[in-house]
Order: sequence, then C-alpha cells, then structure tokens
Amino acid sequence: MATKTIKDMECRGKRVLVRVDFNVPVENGAISDDTRIEAALPTIRHLVERGGRVILMSHLGRPKGKRDEAYSLAPVAAALSEKLGQPVAFANDCVGEEAASAADALGDGEVLLLENLRFHKGETDNDAAFAKDLASLAEMYVNDAFGTAHRAHASTEGVTHHLSPCVCGFLIEKELKFLGDWTSRPERPFVVILGGAKVSDKISVIDALLEKADTILIGGAMAYTFRLALGGKVGDSLAEPDKVETARAALEKAKKNGVTFLLPEDNLVCGDLDFKGGSLGETKIIEGDIEDGWEGVDIGPKTIERYSAAVRDAATVLWNGPMGIFEIAASAKGTFAIAEAVAASDCVSIIGGGDSVKAIKQSGHSANVSFMSTGGGASLEFLEGKQLPGVVALDKA
Ligand code: ADP
Ligand code: MG
Repeated sequence: MATKTIKDMECRGKRVLVRVDFNVPVENGAISDDTRIEAALPTIRHLVERGGRVILMSHLGRPKGKRDEAYSLAPVAAALSEKLGQPVAFANDCVGEEAASAADALGDGEVLLLENLRFHKGETDNDAAFAKDLASLAEMYVNDAFGTAHRAHASTEGVTHHLSPCVCGFLIEKELKFLGDWTSRPERPFVVILGGAKVSDKISVIDALLEKADTILIGGAMAYTFRLALGGKVGDSLAEPDKVETARAALEKAKKNGVTFLLPEDNLVCGDLDFKGGSLGETKIIEGDIEDGWEGVDIGPKTIERYSAAVRDAATVLWNGPMGIFEIAASAKGTFAIAEAVAASDCVSIIGGGDSVKAIKQSGHSANVSFMSTGGGASLEFLEGKQLPGVVALDKA
C-alpha cells in the first residue's frame, strides 16, 4: 500500500514536526557540503507555502547521547535561513521549555530548527517519554530523512504514536518510488549491477534481486568469492572463502530463476596495493584465474565491453557497488566506464549505496542517471525487501 505524502496533508496554521537529514559535514563551525540542506528544501518550501508552522529536527554526527557543541545544528539554521530567504529560529535543545515556547511562537509559514536530537540518548533508544516530549511540540508529522528510516528512533518511529497525520516528504516519496515500486515492477530487461567489497554485505540484496532481475552483472571484490565458488583461483584478491557456499547457492538460484548471472571474464590485477598511498605497484590484465602474488582490483576491458552492452540494451538498471577500487585512479576505469554506459543508456537508472553514489559523482555522470538514493544503509535494507520502521510508521494512503 502506498504511503501518504505531504501532498495529502492540509497544514495551514498547524505545527508540523519534520524529521529531516541535516547530517552535514561541519568543520570548525563551517558546513563543507550543503547537499543535504538543498535536498530538504522542496519539502520545507511546500509546507511554508501552505502556511504550516514548520519545526525541523535532525541528528548531526554521533554525539553519543550528550551535549557536544562540535555537533550543534546552529550553523545549519543560518545556512537554511539564507537558502529559504526567511528567518529560521533555532532552539538550543530539541525538547523542554525553550523548544516548546519557540514552537508556540511560530506563525503560519515560519520555520524553527531544533538542536541535535542525538544530544539525548532517548533518540536512538526510541525512549517513549522522550518521543512524547518531542511530539508534544506539534500536531502533525513529516518524515523526509530516508537515511535513518531503517532505524526505529524516537524521531522516526516513536513520535508517530502521538501525531496525526504522519506522512512522508518529497525525498522519501522519491526513494519509495524508485527503490521500491520501480524495482518491483521494472520495465524489462531489468539489469542489476552489483559490486563493492563483500558478498557478506550484499548477500540478502543479491537474494532479493534474484527474484526480480533478468540479468545480474557482478564486479568488485565480490566477484572473487563467486570465482572461488566456481572452483577458480583468485590469488591475493579480497575474497571470502567462508562465503563460498552462500555464493554457490546464489548461482544455483540464478539458474533456477532463469537469471543471466555474469562474472568478470577479465580483471585488472596489481602486485602491490597501497590503498592509503593510492598506488597499485605493477599491474596487468588477466583473463580467468588469478595467480598468487596478484590481487584483483578492477574489471578488465572485455568485461567492461560486455557489461556496457548489457546496460545499453536495458530498460531498467539498478546499480549497487563499485566495479573496483575506484578510490585509486588506476583502478577506477571499470566503475567509471560502467557509469558512462549507464548515463548514455535510455534506461531508467537507479543508484543505491553510499560508495556507489560517490563513485557516480566522481565519474562526472551523475546528472544523467534517473535516481541516486540518499540512504546508504537504508537503501540496501530496502532493496533486501526489509520493512523500514520509519516508513512503516507512516499513514497509508
Ligand atoms: P556501497 O557503499 O555502494 O554499497 P560497498 O561499500 O559495498 O559499496 O563497496 C565499496 C568499496 O568496495 C569501495 O571502497 C571499493 O574500494 C571496494 N572494492 C571494490 N572492488 C574491490 C576490489 N576488487 N578489492 C577490494 N576492494 C574493492
Ligand atoms: Mg559502502
């Protein structure tokens, strides 16, 4: 069933508690990347324009349940005020007297930002009394923080017991549309690209997508565990020998479900990986087995060609996990080539996962994909088919 959105809500004259993701990087009181503030603007503006009394709340960093000025949201209030072109009031605490009187003082279309939720342990504990205190500031609730929707915290779950309606904002609506609806009823062929570091991180995602995809393309270090499962050699590559059975089961399931499941036919290997130093030592392209002394760090040119062709013919592409160690330029080629293929394709393209989104941005092709998820861990859990507590708690349309 569809989740209610702010478009289904009348908010004039009402106090609306809005969970946003303002977890921005702050260095010496300055915000170094305001992407998340920008991303929250459509939802905030929508409420302001309709005369809502907007009370924003967020976490920032990990202050571990106590006050720590290094994690204050005060700089965000100033930045937000500038972007909205109107004053943004700031309350020094998210609950208590000051927060309550600031909330009461709001006029229609005015905005208040509360101090960091995680200055209180009750937030991540989803403490009932803390949630009630937060909720007492308002009448209605909007959740637009997808990145924390996979956790039942006071601000994502607890408050929903006391407020009505409880709806999602534009950001979560979009996440649900692409990661949920679209991947459940994809236009076909539906090609899934999976990579990254570990099979163990992604096995539930693989399992869920084996029910939906037409083709699954494997890259990244994950491919080496699959190669082991097929009796191949991987040299010094990052692989998980204890996950070989899991990988084998996935291969079986692919066969049973008629999913085309491709592993890299060639790899870029290196002799002396220094991740911190950003160097690989000697490198070469190897087809098939990798000998000892060599470590696979990227997909090779034949694989790039084959995977790019699959992406070209796709109607839907879902991508999670880089094809190689994209943080080092010499082993970023595979990831960037696939990014280019995805961007050039007419398909609906959906990117999930923190590092994958970072890689797409670095490749310079992010403007030409349909959707990039804002939730790293949350997007993975959602793709696994898990119910997200922060979404489940919202009203159904
Ligand atoms: P996401 O955050 O998009 O879900 P992951 O966290 O699963 O992606 O994986 C990203 C990491 O995987 C990157 O830091 C990348 O360096 C690493 N990686 C990719 N290929 C390899 C490889 N062949 N060997 C070691 N690490 C790899
Ligand atoms: Mg990651």
